[in-house]
Amino acid sequence: MSESHLGDKLLRFFELIQEPVRSKEELVENVRTALDGIAEQKNIGKVTICRSAPESKLRAQIENQTEVLYQSDSSIEETATELSFRTGEGGTAVLSYFPVKGCCWEEEEQHELMLLGNMILWAFRLEIMGELLQRMTTMDLAGEIPNVAGFMGYLGGALAQGRIENYIGFYFNTHNFKYVNKVLSHQKADGVMWLYIRQLLQGIHEDECVARLGGDNFVALIRKENADAFIYRISDVNVKYKDATLEKNFNFGATIGAAELNGAQNPGEIMVRISSAYQAARQKESKEVVYYSEDIHKEIMRRKEVIADFHRGVVKQEFEVYYQPKVNTQSRHLCGAEALIRWRKPDGGLIPPMEFIPILEKDGSICILDFYVLDKVCAFLHRCIRENRPLYKISVNFSKRHIENPHLVSEIVAVVDSHKVPHEWIEVELTESEDAKDYIVMSNLIDKLKAEGISVSVDDFGTGYSSLNMLKMIKTDILKIDQSLIPFGRYNNDNQKDCIMFESIVGLAKALGFQVVAEGVETLRQYEYMRDAGCDMIQGYYFDKPLPMDEYLNRLLFGQY
Ligand code: C2E
Ligand code: CA
Ligand code: CA
Repeated sequence: MSESHLGDKLLRFFELIQEPVRSKEELVENVRTALDGIAEQKNIGKVTICRSAPESKLRAQIENQTEVLYQSDSSIEETATELSFRTGEGGTAVLSYFPVKGCCWEEEEQHELMLLGNMILWAFRLEIMGELLQRMTTMDLAGEIPNVAGFMGYLGGALAQGRIENYIGFYFNTHNFKYVNKVLSHQKADGVMWLYIRQLLQGIHEDECVARLGGDNFVALIRKENADAFIYRISDVNVKYKDATLEKNFNFGATIGAAELNGAQNPGEIMVRISSAYQAARQKESKEVVYYSEDIHKEIMRRKEVIADFHRGVVKQEFEVYYQPKVNTQSRHLCGAEALIRWRKPDGGLIPPMEFIPILEKDGSICILDFYVLDKVCAFLHRCIRENRPLYKISVNFSKRHIENPHLVSEIVAVVDSHKVPHEWIEVELTESEDAKDYIVMSNLIDKLKAEGISVSVDDFGTGYSSLNMLKMIKTDILKIDQSLIPFGRYNNDNQKDCIMFESIVGLAKALGFQVVAEGVETLRQYEYMRDAGCDMIQGYYFDKPLPMDEYLNRLLFGQY
């Protein structure tokens, strides 16, 4: 699917549910079509809406009635993500999203679903429920601040009156609220949020609007001339909390996305612009405000498309494993290989990992891919064993994201065993983490893998912040020194200093008992230098690029460089 195609689908969604209708049935039909258009990408299996009113002023027929708005053919999970609104009568309207079987939404996706859900509820409120849902509150936190439905209403008003171009739209997420929720009781944390919101609203003019999306996410419509002052304020909000048992100051910054609203046709389009800008700000971990642009929108759509495409690609087995030989520095004999993934698109194009791995890392799907690679590698090793070919150890990259998985080791062992491959032929490459907390988990992981006879290497060594500290704490067998530290290369122009650094790292690693692999060795000069510096193994274009499986099989026959 093309980039614009997915963007179009979202816009189509917004258009459809905002289309004027004459009956409730017509609206439900539109909502169904709208959901149908995006359900597959979002892994939505089923959507229901249930309205209830305990002290009923509502008419009997809509009391506690659950209506299915969308139902896919696939099987679905039983637990739903719910979005509930208070209605004017003290009742609720609950929208439930059920994911398709096996899928679980990340926080970001949940926000997005909430956004879509809010629009659906908004449409219901507007078109159908008339006097009933009209009273559904558009306010959050006991009437303190509008919620999205309120915000959408406000946007609708500004659009209708032709005032929208006077404004800048904002989408921002407050920093550190997670921390507040962690250290304070629920009630106190709510108190802090309430104070924060009071501060937010203080400088807001009558014809401006700030609303709470949920959690610590906010949106705002601010007049252009006040935008800079608003950014300044939300970048540093000071909250003084005080009650009988606690007195504490909090400072809150924010990740901020903003958009000019020229030419926006409807509230949905505005939401797309500001949330795209916010996502870009978040991805860049930007301290500055990120303004919406076409490029940002395209990039977000590309990311979404990669993630959606990825799941299809796995099912269709579009990923190919390439093998890059590692060579013994002294004997120049093959001594192993690293498995590196490539994505063969149905149109025949071969996509390098850097175009999709960082996206899958953020999304968490990388974990699926790493196991896919392990499975292919084990199948390959099994074939080598069966066909009596020479055997060499193969290393498989495992992303940092696996650290969160307490069953990682047993899952790895299960895959290797399922192919009846002896553990000694597998190596796991882990990258060092920036977070010292992770070292303890990593170090446990490494110990367990080693106890299973699986070797472990630390990849990209020297690029992290605390590499040396880590050397002390973990007991891997192998260090792979990052390409950027290799002297006489593309990255380096001060060779004298590079050599001092490189030789010191190798010296230290060897003295501590690690085997050292130099990666990215491209020239004879580099090879000779690595050899004399004491590196045990070389992986680089000087000997071989990553090879498709058949070519690697040919290399096995000779093995000598
Ligand atoms: P990496 O793990 O550091 O892999 C080494 C990269 O350096 C590979 O890039 C390899 O092709 C490249 N390389 C090797 N020798 C040379 C050389 O002499 N010169 C230059 N310029 N490059 C060289 P590739 O295959 O594009 O992979 C990039 C990164 O993508 C990998 O870096 C790794 O972080 C990630 N990756 C690849 N496959 C997987 C996978 O299955 N799982 C995970 N989690 N990450 C993977
Ligand atoms: Ca690697
Ligand atoms: Ca590496």
